[in-house]
Amino acid sequence: MYNIAIDGPAGAGKSTIAKIVAKQLDFIYVDTGAMYRTLALACYRAGIKADEEAKVVAKCKESTVSLGYENGTQKVFLNGEDVSTEIRQEVIGNMTSAIAVYPEVREILVKLQQDLAKQNNVVMDGRDIGTAVLPNADLKIYLTASVSVRAKRRYDQLVENGNEADIKAIEKDIEDRDYRDMNREVSPLKQADDAVLLDSSYMTIDEVVAKIVSLAQ
Ligand code: C5P
Repeated sequence: MYNIAIDGPAGAGKSTIAKIVAKQLDFIYVDTGAMYRTLALACYRAGIKADEEAKVVAKCKESTVSLGYENGTQKVFLNGEDVSTEIRQEVIGNMTSAIAVYPEVREILVKLQQDLAKQNNVVMDGRDIGTAVLPNADLKIYLTASVSVRAKRRYDQLVENGNEADIKAIEKDIEDRDYRDMNREVSPLKQADDAVLLDSSYMTIDEVVAKIVSLAQ
């Protein structure tokens, strides 16, 4: 199997890029952030707060996360229910990085991710794929962009979808999320020693995709 790991901070363009790369190479795209979001949603729905570790862990253990594909698009299911849209809410994104610090939560999902990579050619994106989940990945990419560029992209996306957005608040959320992801004890976000660094701040999507596909040859 050929495994491509793409890590980087929120809003760097990982999922957009990973999806296109997977399509071009005819690989499976695995969005690990969606898996963490799904467990956060399970807790959120149950009224559990992110700092209630024991309750969070218990809820995650009794919940089933699975992936499916419809017309090549990844769908994520919580106990069989398609929650692909619901997990994209801002409140869930913030709760996700707060529960992703718990080792037992990570253990559940890492196992699932490793099994998927064993059975398929994958492009897998997340925070710890090259460092912890697939340390022997064939190709590792660390994709980043400046905070202001990432905030602007998120802002444009929200406005395009008819939502109100405050760019300063988005920047603050991104900085907080980066801080939590980079400074947690278990599997913090960091560039693997053997990862190729790509800064997408001033690259187009096509340029980033072409670079990764050329590296995968
Ligand atoms: O990529 P996305 O923004 O959907 O991820 C949501 C959150 O899930 C991240 O901020 C991070 O805290 C967590 N996550 C993680 N490990 C991964 C993928 C996501 O801790 N492999």
